Amino acid sequence: MIPADNLQNMGSETAFAVLARANQLAAEGRDIINLGIGQPDFRTPDHIVEAAVKALRDGHHGYTPAPGMMPLREAVAADILKHRGVEVSPEQVMVVPGGKMTMFFAILMFGQPGHEILYPNPGFPIYESMIRYTGATAVPIELHEDRLFSFSADEVLSKLSDRTRLVIINSPGNPTGGVIDDDELDRLVAGLEDFPETAVLSDEIYCRLVFDNRAHRSLLGYESIRDRLILLDGWSKTYAMTGWRAGYGVWPRSLLDDIDKMIVNANSCTNAATQMACIAALTGPQDSVETMRQAFEERRGVIIDLLNAIPGFHCVMPGGAFYAFPNIAGTGRNSWELGQALLEECGVATVHGTSFGAMGEGFLRLSYAASMDNIRESARRMGDYLS
Ligand code: PLP
Repeated sequence: MIPADNLQNMGSETAFAVLARANQLAAEGRDIINLGIGQPDFRTPDHIVEAAVKALRDGHHGYTPAPGMMPLREAVAADILKHRGVEVSPEQVMVVPGGKMTMFFAILMFGQPGHEILYPNPGFPIYESMIRYTGATAVPIELHEDRLFSFSADEVLSKLSDRTRLVIINSPGNPTGGVIDDDELDRLVAGLEDFPETAVLSDEIYCRLVFDNRAHRSLLGYESIRDRLILLDGWSKTYAMTGWRAGYGVWPRSLLDDIDKMIVNANSCTNAATQMACIAALTGPQDSVETMRQAFEERRGVIIDLLNAIPGFHCVMPGGAFYAFPNIAGTGRNSWELGQALLEECGVATVHGTSFGAMGEGFLRLSYAASMDNIRESARRMGDYLS
């Protein structure tokens, strides 16, 4: 068989490979602590689960409209007004099976040979993978450790040209936990006015996981780019629903027919019972969201202190999400080698920084969506190993 050439350009997400290896080692009887995979270690709240069970019992077994059930799209629009203070039409809300699908569609929509797409590096690996798959040129936006993994707007603007079709922003960010400075966002958006043909994809999947009493700054709040902004969000991280596969995009009106067509071609619609659960998530009690956020903030304080006490590690304080991204250059090991050694020799699963792009060399990603006991024990093992 001879698959298409561009398949060779597609990358992957190492966290899933790490998860598989960690599970294999655990199945062999090893005591493995998994700080590799990026998902909340909480159960989906009961009222959300019950809504899905009821939906199945009530007979929601068929297709739904491709962009999602209207009551769900309305609930998303109401949630956006509540949390982002911006009125969007439910027609602009396109429900998809997971946050990832919005980036997949957006990059497919804008990528082709000769086009350039800017993306964060180190960043979520699927951005670069999909850009390369389309044949577009992947232009990195460097996130700087000494800026707490924010970017310099001047640096980003210097990379824009009339070939730039899409700029991808992710804040709070994976893998760094960094939150982009408000000032830099202001300057970036001001500069984008000189590039009216350039679309923006704002991945705000971690928007409800922001710490230090800071408010999340949504790119949807900037009126000057609203007619070319694609907002990515979903239920996975906010409501501990990674396995349900539910996400949404808010799309500019001019792209609604195109995204509808892509959804119909790809997945027809999102699972009906999942959509009913998503309505319950948005319209039901919200206390679990804050409970989880507080738990992550508390664990963040503990893990960052512990990481900074490990020989050769240095870790800045992340402003959001649930990732620590320590600089491990002081260990004298590269990030792949060290990640392997920590898994195989200490039973601690992490993800090496280079799986998030070339600029991740010298770093490891640790997800602290794990119990306090596991956080402490993993730090003890890593500290002993490196001492
Ligand atoms: N965007 C970022 C930055 C992520 O880290 C993830 C998942 O880890 C996603 C999007 C995808 O989320 P989902 O699991 O809803 O597809």
